[in-house]
Amino acid sequence: MTIFPFTEATSIQFQQPLPKTSDVVIIGGGVIGVSTALFLARRNVSVTLLEKGRIAAEQSSRNWGWIRQQGRDADELPIVIEAQRLWRQLAQECGEDIGLKQTGVTYLARTDKEMAGFAKFLEIAQAHGVDTRLLDQGELASLIPAMSRPFKGAMITPSDMRAEPWVAVPALARLAAREGVTIIENCAARMLDISAGRISGVWTEKGRIATSSVVVASGAWTSLFLRAHGISIPQLSVRATVAATAPMPEIYAGAAADERIAFRRRQDGGYTLASGGSSQLYIGPDAFRHAGKYFSALMANPFGTRYLPAAPRGYPDGWSTPRRWNADEESPFERMRVLNPAPETSALRAIDRGFRELFPQFTTVPLKASWAGMIDAMPDVVPIVDRAAAIPGLVIATGMSGHGFGIGPGIGRVLSDLVQGNETGHNLYRFRQSRFSDGSPIRLGPSL
Ligand SMILES: Cc1cc2nc3c(=O)[nH]c(=O)nc-3n(C[C@H](O)[C@H](O)[C@H](O)COP(=O)(O)OP(=O)(O)OC[C@H]3O[C@@H](n4cnc5c(N)ncnc54)[C@H](O)[C@@H]3O)c2cc1C
Repeated sequence: MTIFPFTEATSIQFQQPLPKTSDVVIIGGGVIGVSTALFLARRNVSVTLLEKGRIAAEQSSRNWGWIRQQGRDADELPIVIEAQRLWRQLAQECGEDIGLKQTGVTYLARTDKEMAGFAKFLEIAQAHGVDTRLLDQGELASLIPAMSRPFKGAMITPSDMRAEPWVAVPALARLAAREGVTIIENCAARMLDISAGRISGVWTEKGRIATSSVVVASGAWTSLFLRAHGISIPQLSVRATVAATAPMPEIYAGAAADERIAFRRRQDGGYTLASGGSSQLYIGPDAFRHAGKYFSALMANPFGTRYLPAAPRGYPDGWSTPRRWNADEESPFERMRVLNPAPETSALRAIDRGFRELFPQFTTVPLKASWAGMIDAMPDVVPIVDRAAAIPGLVIATGMSGHGFGIGPGIGRVLSDLVQGNETGHNLYRFRQSRFSDGSPIRLGPSL
């Protein structure tokens, strides 16, 4: 099983011709776009999914693979609970082993303050019937006996799961294709075609497709795409570095984290590792434009993000990245088929150090791969899942803020109803686009 995320070198799997017309066009082949396409196809809607690079090549194959209810924003939790059920169902339906396992998620606490924070989430979990509970020092020591540090305790949600992202999302795409979704890789959407104030089609690098309904699920590229149509959302992206070990003895079957190190057992017997507080923001025009909206997030975790003066060429918020283009010229999206940031060296050192400090019996950490991803962040750490008021026919689903893999199928199901004008079964008020422009205060969701 490969554990390298996808790049432009990954072979193309989905290459259907561009249809002339489609009921719905989805822009972005990550977990959100793929899930939305699948659930729409199940409602006898014709769906075309456009991916500028490869399915899941950006965040959706680069994430830690945690599928968690634990620690979620109270308004996201009902959708994640649904997503957990859908993951189980889809794992059966796709007929492939996506590494889905219920092995729990555990947050480790060093201080009473952290334990008190966990207790707050416990109330939310209990109100929704989630099996989260607190562990004292002794219970934690028997759950993960090999840890060197004396923690105060922990919070665990035993029903939380894990899956292998680089296997799971392409498997869902294959299922969607079998159920009738037209999936086209290497096909960037350049612009929306808007006639009489509403969507009439999408201009792609392979031509125009007529449609009355578009879902923009373009991850870190969404704000760049929307801004070209006069829609401003305060989305930025931050680089996060990940490492993977070779197979090693089992220290814990699930996923766990303290403020220094996060680890998750993989199906191949290795661990996926990351270090807390190691993300970087490349400063660009959007970072300046939206800085004020990120004030609360900055105050809550002043040292959580490092700032770099400029993104590499061609990144969504790069200084030289074009903000406007025409439908018949190359767009920034096809110029960078796969956003594939280099892992940060100091983050890799912190991962190595953090893991060895916690598990001193491993004198070396057998790292066999490392990579990074650009997380699409929102100022309040919850996504936008909404119809765009300015352009009828347009739905925005973005800013999953580092936790969109687990909730992905839930958001996909919700979007399939939102697009069709059905009741979604969830209250989406928290995820409205207008919260950033209607004078509402920024209400921070939890960050991990
Ligand atoms: C390091 C890291 C660790 C994470 N860990 C977890 C975790 O453990 N659990 C969890 O739940 N979440 C996690 N996440 C977050 C999760 O991976 C994302 O929230 C989720 O994958 C977002 O899915 P998406 O479909 O919105 O975006 P993406 O997966 O980024 O997909 C968007 C796609 O849109 C395509 N695209 C963009 N513009 C265009 C265009 N104009 N035309 C055509 N295609 C376009 C892109 O090429 C891309 O493939 C993590 C993320 C990272 C980076």
